[in-house]
Amino acid sequence: MIDLHTHSTASDGTLEPEALVELAAQKKLTAIALTDHDTVAGVARAQAAGGTLGVEVVPGVELSVGSERGALHLLGYFVRPEDAGLRAKLDQWCAVRQERARLMVEKLAELGIEISYAKVEVAAGSGSVGRPHVAREMMRVKAVRSVEEAFERYLRRGKPAYVPREMPEAEEAIGLIRSAGGVAVLAHPATLWLKGAELEARVKELRAQGLEGIEVHWSGHSPRQRQELLVLAKKLSVVATGGSDFHGENKPGIQLGSGRRGNVRVPEAVLQALRGLAGKRE
Ligand code: AMP
Ligand code: FE
Ligand code: FE
Ligand code: ZN
Repeated sequence: MIDLHTHSTASDGTLEPEALVELAAQKKLTAIALTDHDTVAGVARAQAAGGTLGVEVVPGVELSVGSERGALHLLGYFVRPEDAGLRAKLDQWCAVRQERARLMVEKLAELGIEISYAKVEVAAGSGSVGRPHVAREMMRVKAVRSVEEAFERYLRRGKPAYVPREMPEAEEAIGLIRSAGGVAVLAHPATLWLKGAELEARVKELRAQGLEGIEVHWSGHSPRQRQELLVLAKKLSVVATGGSDFHGENKPGIQLGSGRRGNVRVPEAVLQALRGLAGKRE
């Protein structure tokens, strides 16, 4: 079994990179991709643990792209973590995230919820800060009982403590992944809230910008959505990838290697296909 979409404490997962790989080994996974939001800070640690435990760790990243509708996320597989161009952009986006988290803490204070930005920053550690870190601090001061509740009442788009974040265009994000040696894949297409011909047109547009895969086997996709996405991937000749989107305790319903709606079974051939595409990038 393999899982090509996971998060560690380098972004908004709750397991340290080493602990994530240990869990993967316990679950007898042969490979995982570490795809933290806007950071590759956990990759080296995960790979070191993977070397010891016999789990392949694919270097990855997940980038957010501006989208009128829903959420457009791109996964970058086999990026070179030390790539200077990649590092510079990720640092910039992490700084934007910090400023946004600070503004959210201010908004919460106006709403009577006093949390400390310094604590949020400490909880986020050295990688990227995100709303789940704010949510956990809200839990700690007993303003909410769960991350889910923090999002539903305060942090989601449209809710009172929401602050928008500046995001790159798809073309820039795809270009960045490719220039760092990686393969760009559209994460969880369902979150675009597009169907049929509209979704196909959007994926074609992204493919013209260098996209080479779409995430089909994802914990939040229903069996029917997976089937439709598999057909779309074949039709457009892009790789049909998959992963759980494991975040540890920040998304308690999702297990490593499987998800809320049944197992996420990712064919091992997907990894070879991605490796092949990345190999051509040299
Ligand atoms: P951010 O990157 O700061 O915009 O926060 C988005 C992250 O929050 C996503 O990557 C998810 O991990 C998490 N998230 C989004 N919506 C929810 C939700 N309703 N409940 C729990 N976590 C969520
Ligand atoms: Fe996340
Ligand atoms: Fe995502
Ligand atoms: Zn993710």
